[in-house]
Amino acid sequence: MEIWGDYHIHTRASDGQGHVADKFACASARGLREIAVADHGYGAIIFHQTDKKFDAEKRDVERANGLDSVKVYQSIEATPLNEAGDLDVPDATIARCDILHFGFHRLIQWRHVKKCPRYFIVNGWGTRWARSEEDLVEFNTRVYLNVLDRYPVDVICHLNHRARVDVRRICTRAAEDGVYVELNEKHIETLEDCIDTVLATDVEFILGSDAHRTSDVGNFTRVKSFIERHAIPPERICGVGAKPHFRAKADFGKGKENL
Ligand SMILES: [Zn+2]
Ligand SMILES: [Zn+2]
Repeated sequence: MEIWGDYHIHTRASDGQGHVADKFACASARGLREIAVADHGYGAIIFHQTDKKFDAEKRDVERANGLDSVKVYQSIEATPLNEAGDLDVPDATIARCDILHFGFHRLIQWRHVKKCPRYFIVNGWGTRWARSEEDLVEFNTRVYLNVLDRYPVDVICHLNHRARVDVRRICTRAAEDGVYVELNEKHIETLEDCIDTVLATDVEFILGSDAHRTSDVGNFTRVKSFIERHAIPPERICGVGAKPHFRAKADFGKGKENL
């Protein structure tokens, strides 16, 4: 299996190591053709994206793309903050992204956690039994469906990691919208007990190492064995047998300020 894309990499703009240029050099040395930097949204604790860091990262991405060996995309790994599905990234920033990832994260600023405590605390820190309670799963599913309704998202990262959802409904909807489900090297085990349900929908997959260390760029040891074990067709996986398609974002949020 030849892997040529890694669409989930962190840099020092959030809690990763190194800059875009370091990730680019590693990707190039490993023969990757495409990568995406996806640093945490504005709501994460301490290490998160800001306007200033996003601007600097955009310049780094442009510089790397000028070198013409590995294509670099800029994304943000956003977190849904509440039932309405608000993401922790300003609309104006989303409009400047090439890709938009979203998924549940528990290390979120207290001002957000206190507005939606059960969602963050039980999903984030509860036992598996507590996290599997039907009404919480239903709540999480509504959150994700609202995100899908409202934002030009491209990737659902680490599906079912901590915040469990109704996988069939989310993947059916994601397939309709052309949103990928991620095969995440760090959290691939969360798909283990629901992969048959995911595969029964028409959803497509995308690779993400979730590398924080530069040396982890393009590392898909666990994902490769998962793909083989579940016989996922390569043509359903962006970064192996399928080329990416990401949604247009440039007009996102425009006109809202006039409402
Ligand atoms: Zn994540
Ligand atoms: Zn990540």
